[in-house]
Amino acid sequence: MLTTNGQAPFVTVFMYLGEAKDEQEKHDLALIIEEVLEQRYQGVKNEDGVWVTPAFPKLIYVLEEQNIHEDSPYWYLTQLAAKCTAKRMVPDYISEKKMLELKVDKNGDGHCYTCMGCRSFLTPYVDENGKPKYYGRFNQGVVTINLVDVALSSGGNFDKFWKIFDERLELCHRALLCRHERLKGTLSDAAPILWQHGALARLEKGETIDKLLYGGYSTISLGYAGLYECVKAMTGKSHTDPSATPFALNVMQYMNDACKKWKAMHNIDFSLYGTPLESTTYKFAKCLQKRFGIIEGVTDKGYITNSYHIHVTEPVDAFTKLAFESKFQALSPGGAISYVEVPNMEQNLDAVLQVMKFIYDNIMYAELNTKSDYCQECGWDGEIDVVNEDGKLIWKCPRCGNTDQSKMNVARRTCGYIGTQYWNQGRTQEIKERVLHL
Ligand SMILES: [Zn+2]
Repeated sequence: MLTTNGQAPFVTVFMYLGEAKDEQEKHDLALIIEEVLEQRYQGVKNEDGVWVTPAFPKLIYVLEEQNIHEDSPYWYLTQLAAKCTAKRMVPDYISEKKMLELKVDKNGDGHCYTCMGCRSFLTPYVDENGKPKYYGRFNQGVVTINLVDVALSSGGNFDKFWKIFDERLELCHRALLCRHERLKGTLSDAAPILWQHGALARLEKGETIDKLLYGGYSTISLGYAGLYECVKAMTGKSHTDPSATPFALNVMQYMNDACKKWKAMHNIDFSLYGTPLESTTYKFAKCLQKRFGIIEGVTDKGYITNSYHIHVTEPVDAFTKLAFESKFQALSPGGAISYVEVPNMEQNLDAVLQVMKFIYDNIMYAELNTKSDYCQECGWDGEIDVVNEDGKLIWKCPRCGNTDQSKMNVARRTCGYIGTQYWNQGRTQEIKERVLHL
């Protein structure tokens, strides 16, 4: 699957049996899902003709009543998905059960639908005929608040924290309106496939896209980053500490309330979003160090923690992590994803299936991160290490010592997407420091 310039496109394939209109279509869909999983399990050939892990398209598999129990009719697909995840990191998992609870429209009906890209979720919406609509809608953009900076700017004083939080949120509000204003007045002719031929809408020639920017048809996202470091700076504790968790949840609720206020003000669907922070994590960390110096546990890394995630170095088991993070995911309606780091699980698919069952009952959207690398120098098919050489983090084959990135295939979950093109030093440090959860 290629774009015209030969790059793998950022595409997400959503595999959801519940979407089929009738039994025949469901049967056909199951065949397609099976084939997609088989092909992903096999992989894609690299320069040496060795099958390796491709990054795209991202695959999402929906866990539902008809595939999650051993006696469910499509249990065999779930088993195949587990095998594929253990080797290739995808598919990722959406729990239909949890999503129907969380994504409820104004008629009181729950809906299960795909994210856009890696994690951006639309808000529930019904069209002028009272029908739910998800495909064809879009997001107007995102602006991210650096929660760590809010905390450190307050000097640990809670009154000051909420005051500075208000100021920064207002700044984000204004920045988001700049994004919105930039789109306003765009003519459908600017991109006929998107706006006239049905990819996103069927507008008239010469018509503006403005009506699609209001009333919840599209969303606009307030992103956030570094909840862990924010809470640590204010309370001295991780947000997993029961005495600090309520403050962390208050911060999340506060941002949701801001979105609600802006929505009422502009009739635009503002929504809170756990920013992927792919390379921005390094930029934010460097800026924090410049402004506030090195503060242990807060600014002493080349990265800050993604969204509401538990810190990557904090020892916690997979089940506790997913259960804890699910409370925060519910407060991140514009998008978020939770993950657990696992060792090579190919010989223990039962454990993978146990995690999948736990996801089904506990969290809307989650993924398992395995290691899937290949050294072209010696043929090593295990994990390639990140090592510190002269203060720089480099990738090194544990068998032959190869450090030439062009002679190895490394696939890691960077955020919600898998990356295979290597990362900046901050993100590489974050990847190096991840602890296993299983
Ligand atoms: Zn090697």
